[in-house]
Amino acid sequence: MSLQEQSLSYVRAISPYLPGKPMTELAREMGIPVENILKLASNENPLGMSPKAKKAVEAAIGGIERYPDQFDLIAKVAERCGVVPGQVVLGNGSNDVLDLIARVFLAPGRSAVFAQHAFAVYPLATLSTGAELISTPAKNYGHDLDAMRAAIRPDTRIVWIANPNNPTGNFLPYPEVRAFLEAVPKEVVVVLDEAYNEYIAPDERVDTAAWIKEFPNLVVCRTFSKIYGLAGLRVGYALASAEVADLMNRVRQPFNVNNLALAAAVAALDDDEFLQASYELNRRGMVQIVAGLQRLGLEFIPSHGNFVTFRAIDGAGVNQRLLKQGVIVRPIGGYGLPEWLRVTIGSEAENARFLEALQKAL
Ligand SMILES: *Cc1c(COP(=O)(O)O)cnc(C)c1O
Repeated sequence: MSLQEQSLSYVRAISPYLPGKPMTELAREMGIPVENILKLASNENPLGMSPKAKKAVEAAIGGIERYPDQFDLIAKVAERCGVVPGQVVLGNGSNDVLDLIARVFLAPGRSAVFAQHAFAVYPLATLSTGAELISTPAKNYGHDLDAMRAAIRPDTRIVWIANPNNPTGNFLPYPEVRAFLEAVPKEVVVVLDEAYNEYIAPDERVDTAAWIKEFPNLVVCRTFSKIYGLAGLRVGYALASAEVADLMNRVRQPFNVNNLALAAAVAALDDDEFLQASYELNRRGMVQIVAGLQRLGLEFIPSHGNFVTFRAIDGAGVNQRLLKQGVIVRPIGGYGLPEWLRVTIGSEAENARFLEALQKAL
């Protein structure tokens, strides 16, 4: 018997995750310097990382021979989010905490519910446990919470919700999310992935961590990869009831977040100025990109994140012609949206270069 045949059938059935094309790869393919490549494909922060976080990373290199201690970051996240330290679970990126939740609650014979066009890591985390994935049709490209609630079966243990969603940018008003929590059975864990939380307008944002007291089945996930600009360091976290956090910590690798990431994240949480600048740059850039898309007569999905998804019609062709000009965006055929492309909001100059390249590519 081959190793293929020896492997778990549900592992063989997984379609691999397709990351945004690395700048270095396109530079190699095109034989041009990496500095000439514009990557707007992975929702990274065009301002880079907070200068305070950078200093903290440099200082932390001094202790790199030591195993990491999560104490400070857990304490700071707990304080910022109004929970106790025992409710915080750190991850090697928030993808890691999604996996931890899946490993605690899913197995063959169980199921998880997710929405069509929702984040690709939910199917990965679900299917890698051997659990069944129940997909519900999207409503205006976003989550249809009524359909998701109706799809819950007796063997369902997790419902995955991204708010705002990636790659579509849809946002569910928080009263709807709350009504959903009130309606779902208490034994079903609701994962509320808020990777783009800090990009939501302050008047639309809600302190969802405060809901955990009332809904012990709620797990809120956030990340340092997006507005905090630390994607390459890999750090994110989950906020959960103490009971669920304890279970997640049992399957967590003891040293899953490295020293540099821990130091950077602590410092990043203290840099309100960088956070505000990143938020404002994104607001202005969103206006710029949306106006450009409208000028080109392209349909787009109004987004609450740091990216926007637009209908290029010939998605694959337009993507190729953007790549030829050194511009990397994200094709999302794998999300069931082959005509669409997702572009990350960059700096003003980057957005202008993207729009110019797009006009040529159409
Ligand atoms: C980017 C993203 C994440 C964060 O991933 P990390 O592992 O923290 O880098 C999580 N959820 C969604 C919906 C995302 O788009």
